[in-house]
Amino acid sequence: MSHEKRPQKDMAKSKTVFVCSECGNESSKWLGRCPACNSWNTFYEQKVVETSSKDKNRPRVSAAPQSLNSYKAQETIRTSTGFNELDRVLGGGLVKGSLILLGGEPGIGKSTLILQICDKVKGEGKVLYVSGEESAEQIKLRADRLGIKNDDILFLGETNIEVVNEAIININPKLVIIDSIQTMYSEDITAAAGSVSQVREITRTSYESL
Ligand SMILES: [Zn+2]
Repeated sequence: MSHEKRPQKDMAKSKTVFVCSECGNESSKWLGRCPACNSWNTFYEQKVVETSSKDKNRPRVSAAPQSLNSYKAQETIRTSTGFNELDRVLGGGLVKGSLILLGGEPGIGKSTLILQICDKVKGEGKVLYVSGEESAEQIKLRADRLGIKNDDILFLGETNIEVVNEAIININPKLVIIDSIQTMYSEDITAAAGSVSQVREITRTSYESL
């Protein structure tokens, strides 16, 4: 499985757009008030990398419609989280290469559930637990309370997504936990941590490192 690196990045040009930090609305010029969410002074400058024209002119061979009946669906391999109820919600367990957003009010037990999943998730390999909110000590205390003693769970206290992505590439874990996505930031984005553009970029880049 070795795909060749295409030299397209060299041909890419960068231009500037203005993005609303509240809702992610984009504009070619700076606006005092966002027409989408009505927030004031939320637009900031962001560099976008345009794909080269060579890329745009690529023949679209794969776009030919195919009979649905003849299409062979690939069998999805699912990994149990160790919780029947959660597996059911996920449609039978975790799918390799997938991304799941776990939301909920503070204090409902997200961190406890996540730690239990880290412990119970089946399959070979390590689990990388990244926290931008809690220290290793805090998570260790929670693990102790839950009776979790698992050498496969690795902790990284980090909010820089570039560092997190490097760890993902080095460790090649079976599962990555990011607690929480709003606390992460990318050096490439000038907007504040937790803003729409940060969350969007972080989710995209960390997903690509998997
Ligand atoms: Zn807006």
